[in-house]
Amino acid sequence: MYRTHNNGALRAEHINETVTLAGWVQKSRDKGFMIWVDLRDRYGITQLIFDEERTPKEVMDLAKTLGREFVIQVTGKVIERESKNAKMATGDVELLVEKLEVLNQAKTPPFTIEDTTDGGEDLRMKYRYLDIRRNPVKEKLIFRHKVSIAVRNYLSEQGFIEVETPYLIKSTPEGARDFVVPSRMNEGQFYALPQSPQTFKQLLMVGGMDKYFQIVKCFRDEDLRADRQPEFTQIDCEMAFVEQEDILNIFEGLTKHLLKEVVGFEIENFPRMTYDEAMAKYGNDKPDIRFGMEFGELNTVAQHKDFKVFNSAELVVGIAVPGGAGYTRKEIDKLIDWVKRPQVGALGMVYVKCNEDGSFKSSVDKFYDQEDLAKWAEATGAKPGDLICVLSGESFKTRTQLSALRMELGNQMGLRKSDEFAPLWVVDFPLLEWDEETERYHAMHHPFTSPKPGQLELLDTNPGAVKANAYDLVLNGNEIGGGSIRIHDKETQSKMFDYLGFTKEEAQAQFGFLMDAFQYGAPPHGGLAFGLDRLVAILGGQETIRDFIAFPKNNAGRDVMIDAPAKIDEAQLKELNLKVTL
Ligand code: ASP
Repeated sequence: MYRTHNNGALRAEHINETVTLAGWVQKSRDKGFMIWVDLRDRYGITQLIFDEERTPKEVMDLAKTLGREFVIQVTGKVIERESKNAKMATGDVELLVEKLEVLNQAKTPPFTIEDTTDGGEDLRMKYRYLDIRRNPVKEKLIFRHKVSIAVRNYLSEQGFIEVETPYLIKSTPEGARDFVVPSRMNEGQFYALPQSPQTFKQLLMVGGMDKYFQIVKCFRDEDLRADRQPEFTQIDCEMAFVEQEDILNIFEGLTKHLLKEVVGFEIENFPRMTYDEAMAKYGNDKPDIRFGMEFGELNTVAQHKDFKVFNSAELVVGIAVPGGAGYTRKEIDKLIDWVKRPQVGALGMVYVKCNEDGSFKSSVDKFYDQEDLAKWAEATGAKPGDLICVLSGESFKTRTQLSALRMELGNQMGLRKSDEFAPLWVVDFPLLEWDEETERYHAMHHPFTSPKPGQLELLDTNPGAVKANAYDLVLNGNEIGGGSIRIHDKETQSKMFDYLGFTKEEAQAQFGFLMDAFQYGAPPHGGLAFGLDRLVAILGGQETIRDFIAFPKNNAGRDVMIDAPAKIDEAQLKELNLKVTL
């Protein structure tokens, strides 16, 4: 037996017991006649004491050779600690060592393995196994485990069955590039790794599984902007004989359960908002509603004067920044520079200071009088003391820019509190989205999403206006889940593929199996998937998913620890009939 207790277990009640512990040497203080060692494992730290007068000499000598991160096993008597440490769970006691065995030596670690470390991100990732020994990382992995278990328990109690689906499959259109895997046994042919188990879960519904879920890896080869990972985990679900309302209820229930179980946060019903409303009020389909600053459209009150910039704009829109009237010229210039950065792309920003005395001072006083500006204040909900920031231009772009400014201000002003949770359903998404690059419509969610009843006909006349039975769950300004009611008949599905530009042959080759299945009694069905990594990060009060992944990849999609991706050798290439032309 390697140990009788772990390093977080010993208390005053164990005094005088002889115990055996094992773990890593966190640090050692050698006073010559006395040596103290902090022994660490996943459960905590126990102080060991080696005392010239009470510890056998050979043990004392060996103790002097212990370095950081040596793996040791010790046996001794639990004694009362002279200077107790109330901050440590085991702080009342220490272990007077009688026997010591070095189970394994360790090189000096490249960074300190303590809560605050001197190791930079790159170094910590290269030696991630050492990083995981640190409390902040270890605790995040344990937190993730708690969330996963709570998800499994909740869904299982609701009658969901966890079914595994294959990883070596064919392309699934979730809008990214596929990772592909060459097949040795089928020369010249490739599998694609699933961007999601979308088609399989639909087939499980045809198979009568009724309620499916899976905590599953998904793979998307896309540019890794904004904290994405090429492989990530979804809580993937599908249900048969359901309408949108049924799905929202179940997953609102799951989210409430997680908020309560994992972070002790209780909330009544989740608010809902249509996509159009979210775009109009927040310029964003995943608004952070923990704070206000809702958009006020100013077209009718700002487009009647000689200010050409506004008159020629499709949209003039503003937000009221609470307390912003006190900003100095320099602070306002900083905001203007911020919106003009290429990443945001605004051409400029008009502002109005709403003075405490009810008067206004704006950057466009030449064109607008006090009465005009009072209307702007009304439209944006600005109060005396606020600053109105106004952007103008093409509608979608301008909304996106103002939304970026709103979020930036939310961050700067500390309004995005990590211990507050504001879930929101966004519903009635458009079915299609215009893609500038290919100059055609794409499925906004994916091609299996059903249009709202009676809207299919609109596809030919006004495709951009067709709304889908699609919904997203937003939490604190992040999309944590999304799904839809699916098409479940062959005719509508082929019409959709046709509309999205698939030829009959392409549609048949890629998704023939699904359309075939629809001919054998497919039940009405729908579902959704939550991004587990992000959900866990937000519940944990953070926004970077990497911290909650045991072995994450860097921004270039590399695992710097195992050094992947990597070249494969000639023999392997030959066997796969592949030639690298680089
Ligand atoms: N497969 C979808 C996704 O990965 C989720 C769904 O529609 O259920 O976003």
